[in-house]
Amino acid sequence: MASHPTTIAPGDHKAYMRYAVEQARLSPPSPSKFCVGAVLVDADKNEILSTGYSEELPRDRPGDPGSTHAEHCCFIKIADRYGIHDFDIAKVLPRNTVLYTTMEPCNERLSGNRTCVERILGLGDAIKTVYVGIREPDTFIKVNEGIKRLEDAGIKVVVLDDDPDLRALILDSIRNFSFRHKKKDSKDTTEAASISIGRTLSAGAERLSRASIIVDDGSADARGPLGLNLLHSPSEPLFDLVFVHGLGGGSRKTWSKTNSISHYWPREWLPKDPAFKNARIHSFGYDSDWTKGNNNCLNIHHIGKSLLGELSTSPHFAYSNTALILIGHSMGGLVIKNAYMLAQRENKALADRVRAMYFLGTPHRGSDSARLLKNILQVASSAPEYVTDLIRDSAVLQSINDEFRQYSATLELWSFYETQKLRVGGLSTLIVDPESATLGYREEKLMPMTADHRSICKFHDPSDQNYIIIRNSLASTLNKIATTDARARCWNRYAGSGR
Ligand SMILES: [Zn+2]
Repeated sequence: MASHPTTIAPGDHKAYMRYAVEQARLSPPSPSKFCVGAVLVDADKNEILSTGYSEELPRDRPGDPGSTHAEHCCFIKIADRYGIHDFDIAKVLPRNTVLYTTMEPCNERLSGNRTCVERILGLGDAIKTVYVGIREPDTFIKVNEGIKRLEDAGIKVVVLDDDPDLRALILDSIRNFSFRHKKKDSKDTTEAASISIGRTLSAGAERLSRASIIVDDGSADARGPLGLNLLHSPSEPLFDLVFVHGLGGGSRKTWSKTNSISHYWPREWLPKDPAFKNARIHSFGYDSDWTKGNNNCLNIHHIGKSLLGELSTSPHFAYSNTALILIGHSMGGLVIKNAYMLAQRENKALADRVRAMYFLGTPHRGSDSARLLKNILQVASSAPEYVTDLIRDSAVLQSINDEFRQYSATLELWSFYETQKLRVGGLSTLIVDPESATLGYREEKLMPMTADHRSICKFHDPSDQNYIIIRNSLASTLNKIATTDARARCWNRYAGSGR
């Protein structure tokens, strides 16, 4: 049976559950559902057979109406591989198939659709054990007897609820607004409420606190959520790509030609590209709405610090030793440079994992248009501090550029610059001119783009010439890192066996 090899140790159920949590995080949040993740494993061979998350696959399948739950998506993906119906996958599942699911399989659905318990029982004894992260909270269904029904049918159920960190991770991944803000009438809701207001609890819950607030705030917004967001998680991650937007942009908006999810290329196009099969992908969002003119004036240093904070505490980075590639648009490029320099001082191990940086229309040396922008802003409202930072050769830009040079020797650096003017307030202008959009370092790769300051990171489709340039550059970076690392491992083995 086709399956993915895994680096998870055989029988490390908590590690498999954390992997299921990563799947849950891919599910789009909604007030009417929980975000659940599931992983189907051949326990004899320790191989992942399939993964799934809530609403991963389109709803209303022929003869099987309704939305797709995480467990169901696992089954459908196997069925599709064999060209059979998902009711019939028992005949292709290995002898010792086990299921990990972040939440107790459903035994009742408000929509009246087929439940996951029925789907599991429908496979006879094909699934030997179900590992459950948490029992279903009573948000939608008062009493879920899913576990009991599975056990009554002779299926072994193991609830992995003895680890507070894992529990906090799962509660955070559920991302259900009504669940979080429900009155505190059960253990789960009380815990989730404490997580979402970012107080008390264990260190694990503490570091997740910010992320949960952020998801609640930003989920309905086309701009995209704030904080670090996991967009794609392969079974064998070797690379982490982090996309950081610029002024007036957003974690999703900046990387999407339209509001349609199909244009969100870091999430929709890269994961389907074989060259990126080992790339885990994230976006990072921060409050960059300069039209608000509010008092919580963020600056490049603060945003860089917050990015580093999230990278340092995210379980995705802590549990692996992947190579990091940071990609910034406009001011996002200054944020990633700043975060990297802070990491050199505060988290050297993480800094050493950063291998390449991509700058798209980044004003390394300021921009005259920032002055224009500041003028426009001053008419409308007070200018946040970071807009002032963008004035050509401002002290902040200068110091970032000078300091970055000391640390950048081992990095692969790519600067993409705009060659088309953008109309702003009746004027057509290059927002960041080529001189400003390049670091001026010898080892830097310079790429002119037939694009303006906005369209440099938004594309019509994967055949768009500008997309191809960026995609090919990223693919070459990943390939180069993989080759270098493989050679280093080979050399270490050789050196280790010699005398
Ligand atoms: Zn279900």
